[in-house]
Amino acid sequence: MSTEPNDLLAANRAWAGATEAREPGFFTRLARQQSPRYMWIGCADSRVPANELVSLLPGELFVHRNVANVVVHSDLNALSTVQFAVEHLKVAHIIVVGHYGCAGVRAAMRDLRVGLADNWLRHVQDVRLRHREQLDALPPERQEDVLCEMNVIEQAGNVARSTVLQDAWARGQKLAVHGWVYGLRDGLLKDLGVTMDGPQAVLEVPAAALRRCACAGAGQEPQ
Ligand SMILES: [Zn+2]
Repeated sequence: MSTEPNDLLAANRAWAGATEAREPGFFTRLARQQSPRYMWIGCADSRVPANELVSLLPGELFVHRNVANVVVHSDLNALSTVQFAVEHLKVAHIIVVGHYGCAGVRAAMRDLRVGLADNWLRHVQDVRLRHREQLDALPPERQEDVLCEMNVIEQAGNVARSTVLQDAWARGQKLAVHGWVYGLRDGLLKDLGVTMDGPQAVLEVPAAALRRCACAGAGQEPQ
């Protein structure tokens, strides 16, 4: 379907009208305050729209997206968003969501040059290099999917190791970090079992999740 910007504005007016008709006062209530329980850190890919996938309404999901759902400790944009979510909105869960078929992960896996983004995707290549042995041992057709999963687990670990999360847990704030991956082909989210709810979990959970996903990729039982 081909649309022009004016069509989008018309669609927006229809959506706002239908939403208000269904739930009178919806927008005025939201305008006063947002209090989302969840933060989503996902890929910018247009096929992975955060709210729609989990049936959450405006006001229910605080979202940060970038190419290949990367969280690095020098990225003030991502960290500021996490800090606002944790300290001001007091979200209870931060979910890092990758997806199979991610062009950023594919470029990192195949050493493709795409331009300026190569520097950003270097972070995903770093994940690949750290786990090169396990990835190289997999059938070629599985490597990209497993790197998608490993990237989610590593980025979730980065969120959990950030000063924002460490400080929140030190204050006794209840907060968990999760890692999920989305299937473009079936529309389903899979939990990668990397849930961390305190500083101790950060030391153990990602390493175990990485081992599990390498074994599952190779068709073996986890060790
Ligand atoms: Zn992607």
